[in-house]
Amino acid sequence: MTARYQVARAAGATAAGLSRLAGRGTGTQIGGRVILAIDPTAMARAAGGRELALVSGTNGKTTTRTLLVAALETVEPVVSNAGGANLPAGLTAALTADTTSRLGVLEVDEPFLPRVVEAVEPRVVVLLNLSRDQLDRYAEVRRLAGIWHDALTGPHALAVVANADDPLVVWAASAAKNVVWVAAGQGWTFDSTSCPACGDILTRDGRRGWRSNGCGLTRPTPDWSVTDRTVTAPDGSSYDVELAIPGAVNVGNAALAAAAAAHWGVAPGAAFAAMARIPSVEGRYLETSFAGRPLRLLLAKNPAGWVEALAMSRPDAPVVVSVNARAADGRDPSWLWDVPFEVLRGRHAVASGERSRDVAVRLRYAGVDHVRVDDPADALRAAHGSGPVEVLANYTAFQTFRRVVGDG
Ligand SMILES: [Zn+2]
Repeated sequence: MTARYQVARAAGATAAGLSRLAGRGTGTQIGGRVILAIDPTAMARAAGGRELALVSGTNGKTTTRTLLVAALETVEPVVSNAGGANLPAGLTAALTADTTSRLGVLEVDEPFLPRVVEAVEPRVVVLLNLSRDQLDRYAEVRRLAGIWHDALTGPHALAVVANADDPLVVWAASAAKNVVWVAAGQGWTFDSTSCPACGDILTRDGRRGWRSNGCGLTRPTPDWSVTDRTVTAPDGSSYDVELAIPGAVNVGNAALAAAAAAHWGVAPGAAFAAMARIPSVEGRYLETSFAGRPLRLLLAKNPAGWVEALAMSRPDAPVVVSVNARAADGRDPSWLWDVPFEVLRGRHAVASGERSRDVAVRLRYAGVDHVRVDDPADALRAAHGSGPVEVLANYTAFQTFRRVVGDG
């Protein structure tokens, strides 16, 4: 360990502590930034001697990371980055805070994957999906796929676990030498209508098949397949995956996590049993109550995520739709028009959040019966009936509701 790295770690811990004392959150981000400012190689140093898995993709990073941590913790302790700290500073802070765990699982913000792969030399990289997200911040998803493709090209020893149902992910992952394909599903296909390799039209065949007319890029034969709640492993053994967290999408995420955990010798049955015990993920899917009424929190940050969250929500429950447009959410909420809110017809909705007016206009055009209530607690009280309420919210709106129900 170099003197510079030791100084950087100490300064980072001090900065994080001061930030906590000042009541400005956990201090993870500021601590990591201080460490990297003093020693730009700190992320690589902190990763040294460990076996790491990285998880990246537009949706499901935090959930899949949590599922994979649960699977690997059946073997030994695991270092990980919680709380959405998925930029280099957050990763560095997480790794420097835990000096003993040999295994680690890190979720990585999509554009930073190449930098993190180079710095930490992971054993496994899990690629979930790519779709439009934060219109004002990220380039189009085809460019992200290209960044991943370039990062995985070359003589890496790493193994890639990739979603065979997402053409952008398949093209990116196909640059790697060692790929395990998982048929994890793709509920949102509108960002992959043309071939990422040649630009020609993609022909869809049935529920999951796809092929490029131009270059022949096609869905690879999956090593792990998923049918409803049944996951079939490469050796042909099948598992009924009964997660406590909802959604078909999370069975796919569990399959991806199990395929990654298999690189450390974790048997699928043991992996899924550990995953089944997770009740919620940093507030996502949390079953709680407000003023005596049951409610559940669902997070959705972009059109693909909203499609999944709408599919998870109980079909007869009233729903609070809460949207903010702060920097962390993306300042441009025009994606609301890409989300098929029409599926809420026949249910009562409450438009809430700092952009409640945009939500209300969208719900009006979707033909959904709704009221507009800005205040989160009042929005919960405004939901019709006395049964369970589903809260669907984007990033900072979701954090507000967590505080309202006393979680986080
Ligand atoms: Zn093509």
